Amino acid sequence: MSKTIAVIPGDGIGPEIMDATIRVLDALDCGLAYDYVDAGVVALEKHGDLLPQHTIDKIAEHKVALKGPLTTPIGGGFTSINVTLRRKFDLYSNVRPAISFPGTKARYENIDIITVRENTEGAYLAEGQTTTGEGDNEVAVSMIRNTRPGMQRICKYAFEMARKKGRKKVTAVHKANIMKTSSGLFLTVAREVAKDYPDIEFGEMIVDNACMQLVMNPYQFDVIVTTNLFGDILSDLCAGLVGGLGLAPGANIGKDAAIFEAVHGSAPDIAGQKKANPCALLLAAADMLDHLDMVAKATRLRAAIRDVMEARDRTTPDVGGTGTTDTFGDAIVERIRATA
Ligand code: NAD
Repeated sequence: MSKTIAVIPGDGIGPEIMDATIRVLDALDCGLAYDYVDAGVVALEKHGDLLPQHTIDKIAEHKVALKGPLTTPIGGGFTSINVTLRRKFDLYSNVRPAISFPGTKARYENIDIITVRENTEGAYLAEGQTTTGEGDNEVAVSMIRNTRPGMQRICKYAFEMARKKGRKKVTAVHKANIMKTSSGLFLTVAREVAKDYPDIEFGEMIVDNACMQLVMNPYQFDVIVTTNLFGDILSDLCAGLVGGLGLAPGANIGKDAAIFEAVHGSAPDIAGQKKANPCALLLAAADMLDHLDMVAKATRLRAAIRDVMEARDRTTPDVGGTGTTDTFGDAIVERIRATA
């Protein structure tokens, strides 16, 4: 039976990398049908709305979306479309794998760390933000709000994912020594949840030490679970360990919907030039296939990407190649067809 997904090509390099990704998915013969919808500046220009209701309805209908990067216009009171989508669909879990690929200029080899970041609470709240004082806003206050159910579901998600993927260890990263309430609640709940998973080793680490440890000896980490702001920072740090954003996928997962995307943005500096590396979105598509229980296809896709990277076959300039988005896609399609 074919499954329909919502596809949001997005802004800047989005349509170019989405085009390559869909060609690769078609070569994998996944039986997917695509419902194309708009969001971002392209939607603002066409429909007068950065995130049209029609797009929201289609994501709700299909429950799974593959999304290109979206440009949030600066100023003009626009809130981030990504943050709006996470809230609207309660996409509480942001899963960001950092996996080494051959042929990249990275500081380490054989890194394989998954950061599971809480995506809807913590410091990323629009409410409770105030500035006071004469003239220059002398005092600025912002709120961190973590809830027990919110902490429970993210910790459970991390342990369940670890078990499903055969991972050995989950490390809870926190700052409970200083932020005794908000981070303290996270750590308390993480310890409670860990007791239900005796088959998985549990570790805990203060966030500043975790940053140093990740740089000094990243191999001690397997799965990291953490709150919203720390997860945002740590997952970029992990992406840096494996050679940057060109290979960093992200999954936003909720109870009723999941949106898969590249971590990078719309790259306006190279848009329209066919220089964009499609791999981050392709790896997000592989994670989407896992989510849709097409694990063997996902494995084939990752292997094809790995092979092309290793051979430096028609790859894009960001990874030292002289190819284009399209030739990179062609090389991956060929590998996939060869393993059919
Ligand atoms: P960016 O990630 O778009 O670009 C940073 C640098 O990385 C640029 O030099 C760019 O050319 C390069 N780069 C990014 N992706 C690449 C790829 N696939 N291949 C080769 N090079 C690549 O970050 P930015 O310039 O800070 O942001 C541009 C826009 O994207 C902003 O409007 C921002 O709001 C938006 N953004 C969207 C998302 C998202 O939708 N998930 C995430 C981040 C930024």
